[in-house]
Amino acid sequence: MTRLGVCGWPVAHSRSPQMHNAALAQLGLTQWRYQKLPVPPQLFKETVRALPRAGFRGINVTIPHKEQALELADRATETATAIGAANTLTFDTDGAIHADNTDATGFISPLQTSAYEQTALVLGAGGSARAVVYALTQAGAKVTIWNRTPERAAQLASEFGARTGDEPGDIIVNCTSVGLHDPSATFKALPIEADDLFAGRTVVDLVYRHGGTLLLNTAKANGAEVVDGLEILVAQGAASLERWTGRTAPDQAMREAVTDIAT
Ligand code: NAP
Repeated sequence: MTRLGVCGWPVAHSRSPQMHNAALAQLGLTQWRYQKLPVPPQLFKETVRALPRAGFRGINVTIPHKEQALELADRATETATAIGAANTLTFDTDGAIHADNTDATGFISPLQTSAYEQTALVLGAGGSARAVVYALTQAGAKVTIWNRTPERAAQLASEFGARTGDEPGDIIVNCTSVGLHDPSATFKALPIEADDLFAGRTVVDLVYRHGGTLLLNTAKANGAEVVDGLEILVAQGAASLERWTGRTAPDQAMREAVTDIAT
């Protein structure tokens, strides 16, 4: 048995096992399994170092372990190093632990148009915002960051050569958790209005809900191009799976597996 998994604390809510096990089945990898690995922060590094001996080929890493995952790796991609966090670890055959961050690719690849020389407003300054700001900057966008706690926006902006503010751009990305539990809070908590979401703009919401978020549903109704958080989840998962298996990820099977269970 070749094992894969997602390590977080907590991790019970994760949709990654359904998504990856559907992909493994579609690829005919019947001897591979993807499972949840609930591990508290103080046990993260020693647990991960023991995983290769237990048959693990690699793991995804989620809150709150992404920084520790990068620290313990023997090698890391330029992307993971620049973001300062890893969401994908691979246990290479020479015994080395390899770190990557597929959150950046996962965000960029579903965009229909190039971000080059576009203006972008990123809402949020947490872990996902770091990957998004990095990806947009690399793609040549001019990035503005807004965050509820302004100091965190200023810190992130200084690290990546972005600026702070709340001016809507050609691309608007919600990297906060606003809209997840209480859709009616969306336009109160975020510095944007429904009228800011119009045709010609691209609106991306990392949050996903069954039936879509209020932000995305409003943007879609106004004619804007939209990217759903589920597409980002699938794209980052596909990039991780390709690293572990060397096979092209069956993204349609992965999408169907998570669409059914999105809340
Ligand atoms: P995080 O590191 O905990 O950051 C949370 C962010 O949300 C912070 O900027 C925080 O602002 C802001 N925030 C929280 N409550 C808020 C409120 N009531 N009003 C305004 N801002 C608020 O989390 P994360 O990892 O970046 O994830 C953020 C969201 O994206 C989560 O809902 C997560 O599920 C989703 N996500 C989706 C994907 C995907 O694949 N689709 C990937 C990663 C994350 P402060 O700094 O002021 O606290």
